[in-house]
Amino acid sequence: MKSFKTESKRILDLMINSIYTHKEIFLRELISNCSDAIDKLYYKSLSENIGLSRGDFDIKIKADKANNTLTISDNGIGMTAEELENNLGTIAKSGSLAFKNDNAKKEDIDIIGQFGVGFYSVFMVADSVEVLSKAYGSNEANIWKSSGAEGYEIKKAEKENCGTDIILHLKSDSEDEKYSEFMEYYKLRELIKRYSDYIHYPIKIEREVPVSSAQNGENETDKKIVTEFEWETINSMLPLWKKSKSEISEEEYNKFYKDMFYDFEDPFLHQHISAEGLVEYKALLYIPKKCPEAYFSKYFERGLKLYSNGVLIMEKCKELIPEYFGFVQGLVDCELSLNISREMVQHDRSLQKIASNIEKQIRKELTDMLENDRPKYEEFFKTFGLQLKVGIYNNWGMDKDKLQDLVMFYSVKEEKLITFKDYVSKMTDEQKYIYYATGPSILSIRKMPQTEKVLASGYDVLCMTDNVDEFAIKYVNSYESKEFKNVTDGDTGIENSTETVSEEDKPMLDFIKESLSAEVFDVRLSKKLGEHPVCLSTEGEISIEMEKVFRNMPTGDPNAQEVRAKKILEINQNHAVFQKLKSIFAENKDELKEYAEILMSEAKLIEGLPIDDIAHFVELVSKHISN
Ligand code: ADP
Repeated sequence: MKSFKTESKRILDLMINSIYTHKEIFLRELISNCSDAIDKLYYKSLSENIGLSRGDFDIKIKADKANNTLTISDNGIGMTAEELENNLGTIAKSGSLAFKNDNAKKEDIDIIGQFGVGFYSVFMVADSVEVLSKAYGSNEANIWKSSGAEGYEIKKAEKENCGTDIILHLKSDSEDEKYSEFMEYYKLRELIKRYSDYIHYPIKIEREVPVSSAQNGENETDKKIVTEFEWETINSMLPLWKKSKSEISEEEYNKFYKDMFYDFEDPFLHQHISAEGLVEYKALLYIPKKCPEAYFSKYFERGLKLYSNGVLIMEKCKELIPEYFGFVQGLVDCELSLNISREMVQHDRSLQKIASNIEKQIRKELTDMLENDRPKYEEFFKTFGLQLKVGIYNNWGMDKDKLQDLVMFYSVKEEKLITFKDYVSKMTDEQKYIYYATGPSILSIRKMPQTEKVLASGYDVLCMTDNVDEFAIKYVNSYESKEFKNVTDGDTGIENSTETVSEEDKPMLDFIKESLSAEVFDVRLSKKLGEHPVCLSTEGEISIEMEKVFRNMPTGDPNAQEVRAKKILEINQNHAVFQKLKSIFAENKDELKEYAEILMSEAKLIEGLPIDDIAHFVELVSKHISN
């Protein structure tokens, strides 16, 4: 009996005592090794004219329930006694150690966590393992045996053909772990489909199937059910994404999406990328028809599946897709080591390049759609527009340049969704700003006096009805050097500059301002009101809509909830109310105070802001009605 090298022992210990829940990956690891071994022999055959063809190779899996063994066999290159010793006796041979050294500080369990750790992963599910192997071109076979930590031994053995059989003596079932599952046809099939579907050699499972044999061919009851063993190929072998686009039908793309991403509906669109040159990869991307329900919750996990030469190495690689395109489903296949850690993925230069290519490709696809097929783009935007707007706002507006041409807002004038570019293209020379208004619905925005005023000047207004809209706009700030302007802003650039406050009215306005000082920043005569007696406008960065969003923040950040817009109460001097105010100012200042309070509350109600003391408001209104 020989001992394992120290490093190997540590990894072994980890495997044996692993609490890692994805123990099933051992099968992926073994199958990948088989596939590599076949590759080696196949290439040898090509270069040395041995005369073997692809069709001669396969990987076979046989579950022997009577003996509690699972055997994984290949007819690849095999190993000599020396190779068994070098490759399996010491972990330094495999990628795992290099990986371990790089991550010396990391918790050990992390290593097992996400990634393959090669051959030793068998010890997560097996008490003991035998590797019976015969190297190509050699006359002798050998068997390597180990029951884990104590060590291993290698003996001469008998084997007819070249290749390797890995025989696993599975652990006994415990309360938490059902190792016997790995003997079941359905479990094995599921695992092969999930992890190894695109290995390019057939992976076969031995299965017992019933065959009816008619006794003397007479009647039904004489028929006896007999069974026989059959090798069934499980994997699809050639991945869809490796075929050329012209060979794949729309139905195939759609079916693949539904099977792989568990959707009942066809996707909204697919994108098949085959990149060559500096970074080579294939990607198959899909935009679903619906947004996943949990999209904005902490449970949502974005990411693309990452394959290395057809072998799945990561279910959700979030590094491959930016947050704002998190709704995109799909996969990337490129050349990577199987033993790659999440940290390595983050720093892998070629993966970074692939991610940035993918981002550009998605953007290009969407831009083309926007330009050439508006109805389709609008359909997309109605589902995922919010994600793009959140994308502008997130990360302090870092991605706004990438996204600002993809967002649309409803235009009051044109009564349809338009882009910033559309808006600016219709601006006249004297129009200074891109006007927008915020509110709960298009209807309510259209009815706002401030909107009416801007429209009356001949300018269009963009409707912002999502909470995030105005925050996103603050980051965009300007488009083609035209600034954005909220129609409720104190200075919209279209006020009639001749309207000034007369000496006569000033003391009254000052008095109202004084009595509302806790709530308003200023009180002014309105230059934009038509029918309404009063309205609110704001000055500075925080608009009324933003104040509302802050007020409604669910998890109590008290500071956010206290954020207030700098409000200006605007009074319509052409309204009968104004004359009333003037006469009361002369007669009874206390009463004017109460009128001011009522008008302020009215203005707040129009804006959809809460009145702090409703009982007091009702009392005041009732008092003045009964006067
Ligand atoms: P890795 O595959 O990352 O190198 P493993 O621990 O899985 O690490 O395997 C170690 C080595 O053992 C492989 O590199 C290969 O040389 C050899 N090996 C494992 N399985 C087989 C097999 N089925 N046929 C031939 N060689 C194998």
